[in-house]
Amino acid sequence: MTDVTTRLDRLRVALDAPALLLTNSLNIGYMAGMSGLTDFEDPHVALITPDEALLFTDSRYSETARNQAAAGGEIWQIIEFSGKRPAAEEVVMQLVERHISAAALEDTMPYRSWQNWTGRLADYALKAQASKGLVEGLRRCKDNAELEAIAAAQAITDAAFTEMLAFMQVGMTELDIASELEYRMRKLGATGLAFPSIIAAGPNGAKPHAVPSERPIAPGDFVVMDFGAAKDGYCSDMTRTVAFGDPFAEAREVYEAVLAAQAAGLEAARAGTAGADVDAAAREVIVQAGYGAYFGHGLSHGLGMLVHETPHCSPRSTDILAPGDVISMEPGIYLPGRFGVRIEDLIAITDDGIRNFTTSPKELMIL
Ligand code: ZN
Ligand code: ZN
Repeated sequence: MTDVTTRLDRLRVALDAPALLLTNSLNIGYMAGMSGLTDFEDPHVALITPDEALLFTDSRYSETARNQAAAGGEIWQIIEFSGKRPAAEEVVMQLVERHISAAALEDTMPYRSWQNWTGRLADYALKAQASKGLVEGLRRCKDNAELEAIAAAQAITDAAFTEMLAFMQVGMTELDIASELEYRMRKLGATGLAFPSIIAAGPNGAKPHAVPSERPIAPGDFVVMDFGAAKDGYCSDMTRTVAFGDPFAEAREVYEAVLAAQAAGLEAARAGTAGADVDAAAREVIVQAGYGAYFGHGLSHGLGMLVHETPHCSPRSTDILAPGDVISMEPGIYLPGRFGVRIEDLIAITDDGIRNFTTSPKELMIL
């Protein structure tokens, strides 16, 4: 169960404004303990004051809101928009009624929305200020319910990969594999995809974010498979690179270098360690193997409701890892025009080490 009371308590301690106004569906869902909200046409607004929490929504979501937000102890008041006045005006009127003089807004909202909200607040002589990533900051440290949701999403991802090992064959296209994989994740209980799957065979594998194409898999190809299920509002993310037919000597060497780099990264990722140092630990292995020029991206990103969140492990990261962080561990080597290898696990930083959510084998698999 999500502890919504604790989230509100943490938020109120960190808030330096008389009220916080949220329009981002993920931030609202996090604060109210709800999943399945979308941002289509901005249907929701949350208003959090020192002693109240109001959730404004429309008829498409109000039943879900009553059921899910009520699970947090009926601390959320659900208000259905009347539709008679602009939504922002209905929200601002609630501030006026409470004699609240200013509100913090998410500075990540689109410029047009920012103008709309600050304009409405100014109409009633209320001040607007920026929330500066307040809720995103709280979202970084995952509680037990979130860790279990991520574990469930990753278990689906691992199970789908196991099924795919028996299904994939030379001659299938990248799109064949992507669609079968996504179907199987759904059949295994995914509520959605964490992100568009990357299935990249042969030279396409040298593009870290390749889009699946109609290229058939050929004997001798390495195939980079980077995919993840979403489950109840939380994401998973893993990459495995499999070989079709016996790979040549250099391909094996590259694979082993990436695997050793990942092991070094997993060993370095501990609470209190700088993200840049974790990146360096893995990167050094790839540099020593002679492929430093071919590992262009960061080692790791945070993950939760979104597939990319803070913290990061990269050469320019200033993040320090902390218990409750959920991060990827994904070194890669990409040889342009030839092939690529990436191996990615998903881990949580714990008080005394790490928890690895990913169970799929990592030794080179030849199909
Ligand atoms: Zn990935
Ligand atoms: Zn990733």
